[in-house]
Amino acid sequence: MITKGKVVSLAYRLTNDQGEELDRSDKADPFSYLHGSNQIIPGLESAVEKMNIGDKKQVTVSAKEGYGEHDPKLKFSLDRSNFPKDAELEVGMQFEANLSDEEDDGRVFTIEAIKGDKVDVNGNHPLSGMTLHFDVELLSVRDATKDEIQHNHAHGENGHDH
Ligand code: ZN
Repeated sequence: MITKGKVVSLAYRLTNDQGEELDRSDKADPFSYLHGSNQIIPGLESAVEKMNIGDKKQVTVSAKEGYGEHDPKLKFSLDRSNFPKDAELEVGMQFEANLSDEEDDGRVFTIEAIKGDKVDVNGNHPLSGMTLHFDVELLSVRDATKDEIQHNHAHGENGHDH
C-alpha cells in the first residue's frame, strides 16, 4: 500500500481505445510523482496505490477518473484585446488562466484559431473525454524529501530541476 508522501517511480505506456500510443515513459527514464498530491490523474493513482514494487498492471481509466469529460463551455472566442498588446499569438500556443476570480484552477488554454480580432481558445485537456489505457510497472517507492513535501511534487534524480 503506497501512502501519501511517498515518491513513486513508474514506467508506463498510455494508449487510447484504438490502441494508439499517446505517451510513454520507459524504465530507463521513469516517471516519478509525489503520491497524494494530485500530481497524476485519480484513476491511475488509486490503481498504483495497491501495487508492489516490480508489479505490472493494466489499468483502464474513465474520462471522469482521468482528464475529465469534454466540456463545450471551455471552448470559446476571446477578443484580441484580452491578450497583452505585444504578445505574438499563434495557433497551438498555450496559456494559463482562471475562469473566474473564485476559481484558482490555473487551467491551461490552447489557442485553436485566430480570425482577425477573434481568438478561439480551448481549455479542455487534450486527453479529456477519453478512456485511457495504461500499462504500468511500479519501479520504486521512496520517502519524499523535505523539499518535495514543501513543493508538493517529486523532484528528478538530479535534485531540483525546475
Ligand atoms: Zn520543486
